[in-house]
Amino acid sequence: MSIKPVIAIHGGAGTIVRQAMSTEAETRYHAALNEILSAGQNVLADGGSALDAVTEAVRLLEDCPLFNAGHGAVFTAAGTHELDASVMDGATLEAGSVCCVTRVKNPVLAARRVLDASEHVMFTAAGAEAFAQSQGLEFVDPSYFHTDARYQQWLNARGTSGTMLDHDAMTKFAFDNDPIDPRKKLGTVGAVALDAHGHLAAATSTGGITNKQAGRVGDAPLIGAGCYANDATCAVSTTGTGEMFIRMLAAYDVSAQMEYRCVSLEEASNDVVMNKLPRIEGRGGLIAVDAKGNVVLPFNTEGMYRGYARVGDTPVTAIYR
Ligand code: ASP
Repeated sequence: MSIKPVIAIHGGAGTIVRQAMSTEAETRYHAALNEILSAGQNVLADGGSALDAVTEAVRLLEDCPLFNAGHGAVFTAAGTHELDASVMDGATLEAGSVCCVTRVKNPVLAARRVLDASEHVMFTAAGAEAFAQSQGLEFVDPSYFHTDARYQQWLNARGTSGTMLDHDAMTKFAFDNDPIDPRKKLGTVGAVALDAHGHLAAATSTGGITNKQAGRVGDAPLIGAGCYANDATCAVSTTGTGEMFIRMLAAYDVSAQMEYRCVSLEEASNDVVMNKLPRIEGRGGLIAVDAKGNVVLPFNTEGMYRGYARVGDTPVTAIYR
């Protein structure tokens, strides 16, 4: 049976409601998702690996200011940016991740270099930057990550007690008179892919949650929580309230349920997102693909920026439930 390569991406989940979104903003999000899916599709169409496709898609998502990763990342409580990213290869179970980097232009490329060139899996803060520098990666002044939209979000969140999930903060900004519901604070970007050789890969990157404490690390760079890939089961990238995704080992749980309970990708993903995470007030979603090319994009929030594209087909993108 010949395999049709496929890539899926997400740009974060949260309180994304139609009434709060202008037609222009909606068009911008769909255009960005389409463009990035097409780039990932091209890598796969040229016979490229799932690992290369997800790395490239997440790099482009990081460069796009609409999403909370790389340029456009949210602010910490200290008014800084601390970025986390991870990548995993389903063929070899090799993985790489970095967290709390502040000057690496594309954290996902640093994670990829960890996978390719290091005996270790995860680097943090200054050590991660020293490693990235030794690999010749591009560095930027921290002001590169600043965008006015995220700065406004941060000013909003700063006056409250808590943190905010990126896209919830955006909605609060749009609905200026609405009280901030502390349970509704969520962004992150991610990609999963199946290539023509039957290999799976996943990548995730984030600025974290708005107004997070300096040094806080979420699920995105943690293999098994925010990112997981195994050719025997599936590839998963998550977005949402990181603390709960860590406690649930959300990405790995999808894979484990497929392996141990022999359930489908859809059943395993729905169980994690619709049953298990809500039990501990986990909000968000995930994207996943299995070795047969099935794609699922479940979320338990009002919306999730998402899409998928099979090689040869027109990309499909969506925002709301
Ligand atoms: N999961 C990310 C984190 O906790 C945030 C998000 O996806 O909105 O850092």
